[in-house]
Amino acid sequence: MTAGEIESCPDCGFVWDHVLINDVPRRLELGTRSFVELLAQDDAVVSVRPSFDRWSIAEYAGHVRDVLLTVRERMIAATIADRPTGLPIFREERVALGYYRLDTPMELAVELQAASGLLVKTVRSIPSGLETRTMNYGFPSPMERPVTWVAAQGVHELEHHLGDAEKNVLLRSSGLA
Ligand SMILES: [Zn+2]
Repeated sequence: MTAGEIESCPDCGFVWDHVLINDVPRRLELGTRSFVELLAQDDAVVSVRPSFDRWSIAEYAGHVRDVLLTVRERMIAATIADRPTGLPIFREERVALGYYRLDTPMELAVELQAASGLLVKTVRSIPSGLETRTMNYGFPSPMERPVTWVAAQGVHELEHHLGDAEKNVLLRSSGLA
């Protein structure tokens, strides 16, 4: 990205700067509702990887749950500490080491709603004036980001992987997986 260029996700087109902080709760709630509906499908759809290079819907949900919890912690830390640096989430390692092995679709639905609800409450509770404080954020490239951007990143992760989960359903129904 060069100076003056608007930053967007190369995969889903999400533009962080287009998400206003006041709109974050509504988008988190909408995305979570859609994800929970996908988790209510047959286990064969939810828990099976459609191809070797994609996660299952359950794994995407587990990842988003963990990201939303992490985003909440990072936002709170950034309003208190001076420019903290978030630890990586180790997304691939969590799956590879089996930390999502015991997740059932029903539990994931509950946990995803809880994680999303916690982030919504956090966004609504940021003390006035602290939303411009910053932290070092490693994704998509290491940069100093304001708390408002970190909140938008929560929306991005949810909507991006909701798209992945919806694609899994399409691949399966079209017989491609
Ligand atoms: Zn994206």
